[in-house]
Amino acid sequence: MQRLNNKALLRDKAYINGQWCEAQSGARMPVLDPATSEQIATVADLDGADVSLAIDAANAALPAWRRKTAKERAALLRNWFERIVAAKDDLAILMTAEQGKPLAESAGEVMYGASFIEWFAEEGKRVYGDVVPTHAADKRVIVTKEPVGVVAAITPWNFPNAMITRKAAPALAAGCTIVIKPAEDTPLSALALMVLAEEAGIPAGVINIVTSSRSAEVGQTLTDSPIVRKLSFTGSTAVGKQLMRQCADTVKKISLELGGNAPLIIFDDADLDRAIPAAIACKFRNAGQTCVCANRVLVQDGIYDEFIKRYKVAVEQMTIGHGLQGTFDQGPMINAAAIGKVEELLNDATSKGARVVTGGERHPLGEAFYRPTVLADVTPEMRVAKEEIFGPLAPIFRFDTEEQAIQMANDTEYGLAAYFFANNLGRVWRVQEGLEYGMVAVNEGILSTEVAPFGGIKESGIGREGSKYGIDEYVEMKYVLIGGIDK
Ligand code: ADP
Repeated sequence: MQRLNNKALLRDKAYINGQWCEAQSGARMPVLDPATSEQIATVADLDGADVSLAIDAANAALPAWRRKTAKERAALLRNWFERIVAAKDDLAILMTAEQGKPLAESAGEVMYGASFIEWFAEEGKRVYGDVVPTHAADKRVIVTKEPVGVVAAITPWNFPNAMITRKAAPALAAGCTIVIKPAEDTPLSALALMVLAEEAGIPAGVINIVTSSRSAEVGQTLTDSPIVRKLSFTGSTAVGKQLMRQCADTVKKISLELGGNAPLIIFDDADLDRAIPAAIACKFRNAGQTCVCANRVLVQDGIYDEFIKRYKVAVEQMTIGHGLQGTFDQGPMINAAAIGKVEELLNDATSKGARVVTGGERHPLGEAFYRPTVLADVTPEMRVAKEEIFGPLAPIFRFDTEEQAIQMANDTEYGLAAYFFANNLGRVWRVQEGLEYGMVAVNEGILSTEVAPFGGIKESGIGREGSKYGIDEYVEMKYVLIGGIDK
C-alpha cells in the first residue's frame, strides 16, 4: 500500500448516499493479502439495516438521474472512465494486494473494466424506441425504453473491478441507480472505483457500495425489497439459483452470470504453435480462477501425445510469485480452501487412473500457492469432468471423432464459454454450430471484450453483459397507444 501514488484511493468505509460511512453497528471486517494471509486493511462490515438505507438512497436519487439526458449521463461516465485510466497503476496495486493476481493481469483488468464505462457511455445515447405502423387509423403505436429503476449488483472476488463496471456502467447509462455489494474478499477495488466516480461528479445516491461479510443477509435484504427492480449477479451457480428463487417473490428482472465448465478442444488439424500458448492463457490466467477458464482440455488421438509433450514444456516455464514482488505468470489462489478443492479433484482423478504430467502439488512459496498442473488420461467418470475446478489444474481428455468431441463438450449442465482449435473450414463451422454454449472462441484462448455479448446458456446464466445488447438488461419497454387522434 506504500506504493500507492494516490493514497486517497485506499478507503475503509462503505459509501451510501454520497457519504463514506461505517456500519451502524460499528462492525468491521478484515481484508487479507491472499499470498501471505496478512491483514492489509479493515473495512466497514454492513448489515441488512445499512443496506436498506442504501436502497432508499438509490431510490431517492433515481428521479433526478433518470431525468438527465443520456448525453449528460454519458459525460459523467466518460469522466469516470478517464479517471480510472489515469489511476490504472494504483488500482492495479490495490487489486493485486487483495486478490493476488499478477500485477500485469490486474492492470489489464482495470483497462478491461474501464472499457465498459466508455462503451456504455456511448450506448446510453442509442436506446431507441419505435414508432410502429398503426393497426387503426385513429390510433398511434409507440414503444419507449425506460430505465428499470433501482438495481442491485452482487459481484465476485475473481474480477474485483470489471464485474462491477460491467453492471454499473450500463445501469447508469440507462438511467438506473445502483446498490453494489462487492465480494467480501475484495472490497478495496470497489471502494477505489467509488472514489473516482465521486470525483467524476456522479451524484449522491446514484452509486452506493455496501461492503459486508454477511452476504446472505445482504442478499436477502436486496431481493426482498420491492424498491429493487433488478438484480445482476456474477458468482457461483448455487448462489445464483438461490438468488433467483429469492427474486421470484417480487418478480425482479434478473441477470445471472454463473459457473462454467469450458471445453477447450484441440483437433488433429490444429496449429499447435497457436494452440499451446492459448491453452496456457485460457487455463492458467488468474490461477485458473475465472468462469471462462478451460475446465476440460479435449485432445484428438492423432495429436494427443505431441500436445501433452509441448504443453508440459510450456507449463513448466511459467513463473510463480507474489504479484507485487516481481513479474510472474501466476500468483496465489484466493485462499487455502480453494487449494483444498483442487487437491480433492486431483486425488479423485489420480485414484481413478489419471496421470500427473507436471505439478500436482503445493508450491513452497506459501499455503495459497499451487503449481500449475497438467493431468493426462482423464475420463468422464472423474469429478474434474463435471465440476468447476477454479484452479491451476488442466485435465486432458482423449477423443477420436469430431462427433465425439462435440458430445463430450456438451455433456455438462453448464453452457458459458467453449474454445476449439482447428483449421479445416468445414469443421470450424460444424463444431461451432454443434457447441451448446453462449460463447465460442475458434483458434483463440481469450474472448472477453466489451464489444461482444458475454454470457451463458443452460445453468451458466441468464442475460448478456457488454455489447449493444448489454444495456437491454437495464431498460423496460413501454408500449404507448394514443387513440382518438382523428378528431
Ligand atoms: P465465488 O465462488 O465466486 O465466491 P459466490 O457465489 O460464493 O461465488 O460469491 C459471489 C458473490 O455472491 C460474493 O459477493 C458473495 O459475497 C455473494 N454471496 C455469497 N452467498 C450469498 C448469498 N447467500 N446471498 C447473496 N450473496 C451471496
